[in-house]
Amino acid sequence: MKEKEVVVIGSGPAGYTASIYLSRAMLNPLLFEGFNAGGTVGGQLMTTGLVENFPGFQDGIDGQTLMTQIRRQAINCGVECVTSDILSVKKEGENFILSDGNEEKYSAKSLIIATGSLAKRLDLESEKKFWTKGISACAVCDGGLPIFRNKILAVIGGGDSAIEEAVYLTKFAQKVYLIHRRDELRASKIMQKHLRQNPKIETLLSKIPVEFYGENLLAGIKLKDTKTQEISTLQVSGCFEAIGNVPNTKFFKDLIKLDENGYVIVDENNMTNISGIFAAGDVMSPQYRQAIIAAGNGAKAALACEKWILNK
Ligand code: NAP
Repeated sequence: MKEKEVVVIGSGPAGYTASIYLSRAMLNPLLFEGFNAGGTVGGQLMTTGLVENFPGFQDGIDGQTLMTQIRRQAINCGVECVTSDILSVKKEGENFILSDGNEEKYSAKSLIIATGSLAKRLDLESEKKFWTKGISACAVCDGGLPIFRNKILAVIGGGDSAIEEAVYLTKFAQKVYLIHRRDELRASKIMQKHLRQNPKIETLLSKIPVEFYGENLLAGIKLKDTKTQEISTLQVSGCFEAIGNVPNTKFFKDLIKLDENGYVIVDENNMTNISGIFAAGDVMSPQYRQAIIAAGNGAKAALACEKWILNK
């Protein structure tokens, strides 16, 4: 059994930042980076193009490079990284016992859960071809990129996120289509008002994408009318999917309290309902989903965790 003061689970900006702070506090954290249970090691930034809104990089930085550098920084600070998925967490006495399916188990006095969330995808075969080549799940991350500027774009979804993304994209785009599968939007009234007030957005109801097409970059979407089954084409240079996110909380659902959408509930010190378990980043925050917020949140959870260990 490997014994630790603190184990961090998750390898996005929240997890690495938490582990950097814990390491500098001489707590020798172990960080489980995941393998494939919660998406790519390094989190959603690994599939993001240019990140222009993370401070410190005057010309922006590629998402993958940013995560590679944060990881290296963590290792240079002494963080021990393990590339495997935690498959179970149990409380035994004062400690938490973790297993990644291998023979050796891990025991920790405290945990920071930073497993993030995964953007839901449409799951079309043609979507894979154009992912990062015209299709994205984050307008704030990618909307200002040259391939989308002054172009006709689409957003898929009928919730608050879809409207938020569509409105945001109108800063750069010539026109934005909001495409929703039903004949009424799910979004709140206030967001629908923002939508109606924006002359650059046209809403297409009762339509679902059935195929993305183009050469190397996305050139358009084939849409099916969900009422008439009719197929039409829509020429767009970009498509932003905003069809909801799923938090990576499957392995903690029996241990800690989650909200009705599966997100971890925390107090003002990022502690869950179980003393000694903290959470940070997208796994506890469905609203903002920004790398800088996740990183800041990871730092906060680490500082709170350090204090908790000292006062124990
Ligand atoms: P959401 O409310 O779950 O909306 C997801 C949307 O995607 C729904 O309209 C859904 O259609 C559609 N959808 C789901 N699967 C689909 C599929 N396979 N194909 C086509 N469409 C699909 O998610 P969200 O918009 O990300 O919002 C999540 C939470 O964050 C909400 O509580 C929201 O209020 C909150 N939020 C608030 C703000 C704000 O207040 N400014 C901004 C963003 C998010 P159906 O409607 O048919 O189910």
